[in-house]
Amino acid sequence: MKEEDIRPKKIFDTFLGLIQEDVSEIFNGCETQEMPCPACNSGASPVVYEKDGFGVSECEECLTLYVNPRPKFKYFKKFYSDSKSSKFWATTFYKETEVSRREQIWKPKAQQINVLLKNYNIQNVYDIGGGYGVFAEELEALDYASVTVIEPSMHLAKICRDKGFKVLESFLEDLRTDDFESAQTKCFVSFELFEHLYDPKAFLDNLYCLMGSGDIFIFSTLSGLGVDIQTLGKHSKSISPPQHLNFLNPSSIKFLLKRIGFTIEGVTTPGKLDLDIMKNNSKYINDSFWRKFLKVASEEQFDMMQKSISDSGFSSHMLVVCKKL
Ligand SMILES: [Zn+2]
Repeated sequence: MKEEDIRPKKIFDTFLGLIQEDVSEIFNGCETQEMPCPACNSGASPVVYEKDGFGVSECEECLTLYVNPRPKFKYFKKFYSDSKSSKFWATTFYKETEVSRREQIWKPKAQQINVLLKNYNIQNVYDIGGGYGVFAEELEALDYASVTVIEPSMHLAKICRDKGFKVLESFLEDLRTDDFESAQTKCFVSFELFEHLYDPKAFLDNLYCLMGSGDIFIFSTLSGLGVDIQTLGKHSKSISPPQHLNFLNPSSIKFLLKRIGFTIEGVTTPGKLDLDIMKNNSKYINDSFWRKFLKVASEEQFDMMQKSISDSGFSSHMLVVCKKL
């Protein structure tokens, strides 16, 4: 898989340009607040760089990267409900990349999750922020699990309903335990949502309350210790405030989940794109080793290195499995 397949440069750059316009319309001169580390709650982490007018701090305790100071929540509400970039993402970006993202991202993800579901003997899946229902379609196509989509957008909820899925048209935080079948063991999933959350701990606290004993939660998010994010620094396209706000890492996510009460079942970094992303942005890499590696490595060496990055926990794509006992 290549970065170009899932984020064609031209269209992705258009999207990033629209975010810039949204930033100047919505966030310019906004009220902000100092945030403690979203993983370990330690205060006053130094700002390591600025990106597009937003400060990015790195926690001295757990190395979590996070946007700080953070604009107040009301600005994000507008950004997600009524902005140029959110419209572009939901229409143009989605349409132009649907086929390749389905093949490259959602089919393999569905297979991976299906294996986990069989291991845990769980067939009831709730997809938080299920969007267009593509993951739900691909998972149900494997004939094991059934999916309910949790999706607050009226437009997207209708699309999922038209595809035949049960939909809870709501934000997770507005749901109650009696919205779920309590007798069934459930698996909640969310993909590439966690890095967008204004308050990750509040989200997890809410989810923990909704879960029953034995339920599991599987989610993917960005790891701030991923090699592409670390070597590219503020030039990493993943560091994209106000879109992405939290970049935990394998150890800080474990710390946060344990604080809430979850049992950790596994944290891996199965990403495949770190080196390809670095290669596409190599003009921004200062580190001498990586500059030379990207220049001279054979395809085989490149693949071996990517594999060892993923296996050792240093890819920026992180997958977490946790359980409520
Ligand atoms: Zn921390």
